[in-house]
Amino acid sequence: MKTARRIEALKPYLFVEINKKIAEKRARGEEVISFAIGDPDIPTPPHVIKKLCETAQDPANHRYPESEGLPELHVAIADWYKKRFDVTLDPTTEVLPLIGSKEGIGHIAFCFIDSGNIALVPDPAYPVYAIGTQLAGGRPYYMPLTEENNFLPDLKNIKDFILKDTRILWLNYPNNPTGAVAGLDFFQQAVEFAKQHDILVCHDGPYSEVAYDNYVPNSFMQTDGAKDIGIEFHSLSKTYNMTGWRIGMAVGNAEAIKALRTIKSNLDSGIPQAIQYMAIEALNGPQDSISEHNVIYQRRRDLIIEVLEKIGVKAIPPKASLYIWAKVPDGYNSVEFTADLLDQVSVAVTPGIGYGPSGEGYVRLSLTIPDVSLVKGLSRLSGWRNTRRLTPKR
Ligand SMILES: *Cc1c(COP(=O)(O)O)cnc(C)c1O
Repeated sequence: MKTARRIEALKPYLFVEINKKIAEKRARGEEVISFAIGDPDIPTPPHVIKKLCETAQDPANHRYPESEGLPELHVAIADWYKKRFDVTLDPTTEVLPLIGSKEGIGHIAFCFIDSGNIALVPDPAYPVYAIGTQLAGGRPYYMPLTEENNFLPDLKNIKDFILKDTRILWLNYPNNPTGAVAGLDFFQQAVEFAKQHDILVCHDGPYSEVAYDNYVPNSFMQTDGAKDIGIEFHSLSKTYNMTGWRIGMAVGNAEAIKALRTIKSNLDSGIPQAIQYMAIEALNGPQDSISEHNVIYQRRRDLIIEVLEKIGVKAIPPKASLYIWAKVPDGYNSVEFTADLLDQVSVAVTPGIGYGPSGEGYVRLSLTIPDVSLVKGLSRLSGWRNTRRLTPKR
């Protein structure tokens, strides 16, 4: 049989390659401590699991789910946006539950990208923005995120001949992988830019509840005019440690939400209903677990940064997100440094180049490493030696 060209064009998903390398080492009996994967290690809050157990008993939830999401879930999402961000959403037309936000992020391209169209994609970034664009027959145009520009894209620098074919502007703050955050002033610029060029803004905001040092991240939807030209993807994955349950949402511009609903209603049959009840419980119930988890992540962040500094690896402590974006030390590129960490101390990190060309020169370390492994990982990291640094001439 012959696969379609779109399959051949897909490079192996970044984490698949890394996992393969790690698996080989583990198969040889070596223990690898991984800072490479962003998947909360802390369990889902007990009251949310309890709701799953209850609702799983009800035969009404054994059948095809309400495919656009239970009306109560739409309301719970709108209420949460009101409580958390003071953003008003129409639960019916401006809210759409997703089978995890990744699903919606992939599918939105099919709503707005025709063959030859362009999506502006941050570089480095979560890989799905570019891959979704390519699968829909479009082209990603990479916007470099640099430290000098606080990891914000320079929208003014994008040429008109690019913009005339552009349909989507992707943004993601708090950012994966750089840990950068964006203020409402930047979001305001993005709204004006998008209106001027008639582009849909897709803001991906799954880390809005993962923040440190009393920093409170914004929602893109808080920006004046955001709803005229944009949508926001959000997720229960990182907020409530629910990555395994697969539930998220898109909110904002009603026309864009309707387009996404149309594509989805033809491809999937919704989120298992007991899981929708978990989401309602998580959004409406006590929120204490969020700050409790942030205390844990912040402590991990500080411990990791301290050890990195000792071995000559510079990193800015992130105000939010689950990631430390660390500068590769002299003498290595990001893949070489990752390989050297694996070889010397059996520690896995993610090479920045995997997130796009401007990720070169960095590696990403995730804060979702259980404390027991963290202690071991830190002691190993502190034993790493830079064997490539040029020794000063005598
Ligand atoms: C984790 C993550 C997501 C996906 O979350 P799900 O809702 O679990 O699909 C989306 N965007 C970014 C940037 C992420 O890091």
